[in-house]
Amino acid sequence: MTVLVTGGAGYIGSHFVKYLVEKDFKVIVLDNLSRGYKQAVHQKAVFVNADLLDYSSLSKVFINHKPEAVVHFAAFAYVGESVEKPDLYYQNNVVGSYNLIKACAENGIKKFVFSSTCSIYGNPTKVPISEEQQSNPINPYANTKLIIEMMLKDFDTSFGMKSVALRYFNAAGADLNGEIGESHNPETHLIPLVLDTALGKREKVYVFGDDYNTPDGTCIRDYIHVNDLALAHSQAINYLNDGNDSTVINLGTGSGNSVLEIIKKSERITGKKINYEITGRRAGDPAVLVADNKKAKELLNWYPVHTIEEIIESAWKWSINPKY
Ligand code: UDP
Repeated sequence: MTVLVTGGAGYIGSHFVKYLVEKDFKVIVLDNLSRGYKQAVHQKAVFVNADLLDYSSLSKVFINHKPEAVVHFAAFAYVGESVEKPDLYYQNNVVGSYNLIKACAENGIKKFVFSSTCSIYGNPTKVPISEEQQSNPINPYANTKLIIEMMLKDFDTSFGMKSVALRYFNAAGADLNGEIGESHNPETHLIPLVLDTALGKREKVYVFGDDYNTPDGTCIRDYIHVNDLALAHSQAINYLNDGNDSTVINLGTGSGNSVLEIIKKSERITGKKINYEITGRRAGDPAVLVADNKKAKELLNWYPVHTIEEIIESAWKWSINPKY
C-alpha cells in the first residue's frame, strides 16, 4: 500500500514513517522542512519538499505517486505562538489542510488519518477525558485542529472520505535506534528541557506552578511514547481498510505523571541532579490531562506498551547524542 505522509520530517511523523517502511509500505513524505529535518526522514521513504499552501505541487504528488491513504501530521503546534500569530496558524494549519483534503477529494482518496490534539477539550470537565466530552478549545492552535476535524466530517458526508482524527495527549520519548528523536526550536516541552538540564545545557527547569489541585501541586499529564503513537496510526489505516466509519479517538496511556514526578524519575534514570525552580503558572494549563483510551483499545485494538521510564530513557539516549 502507498501512503502519503505530510510532516514526515517532523517529530511524530518521522517515527511513523520509520514504522511504515519497516512494515514494507511504500511511503511518500511531503514536508516543507520549515520545522522538520531531512535527516529525520527514513532513507526508504520517497521525500518531496513541497508546501501544502502550493496547490499545484500538491496535486502533482497525487498524480505522480497515487497514494491510497493520507496521514496528515504537518502543522504548526506551539500554543503560545498561535496566540501571538493566529494568522500564521489559520493559514498554515487550516488553509494547508483544506488544500490537502481538497486534493484528496479530487483524487478519490477515501482514507485519511489526522493528527489532532487533546487540547481541543480545553479545560476538561471530567478526567479521564473521553471522546464524548464536549470540545472547548481555548487557544488558536486548538481551534485550528478542531476546524480541520469538522472539515473532515463534512468531506465524509458529501464525498464519502473516511477519516480517523487521533487526539494525542503528551507525545514524548524517541526511537531506540538513536537516529531520530525530538528536536524543536525553541524547545518548550517538559521532558527534553528536564534532560537538557541534566546534561548541563540549561541551568534549571522552571516548574510552572505548584498550587494546582493535584497531590504534589504540579500539573499532571499523560505522556505517551512516540512509537506507541506511530503504531496507533498504522492501526487507524487498518481500521479504514476494513471499511469502518469516520471517527475521533484519544491516544494516551490512561495514567499521568506530575511535573515533579518527571523531574525525580529523570534524576534516577540519568543519575544527575536536576535543578528546578517553582515559578508561576503558565497561562492555559489545566491541572490534569489524562486520556480515557477505551475507544482506541476497542476500535483500533491499540494498547500502548511503553512505560514512563522507557519514555525518559529513550529521550535521554537521544538528548545525549541528538542527530539534528
Ligand atoms: N512544564 C513546566 N516547565 C516547563 C515546560 C512545561 O513546568 O519548562 C509543565 C507544563 O506546565 C505542563 C507539563 O509540564 O503541565 C507539560 O508541558 P509540555 O509543554 O511538555 O506539554 P503540554 O502539556 O503543554 O502539551
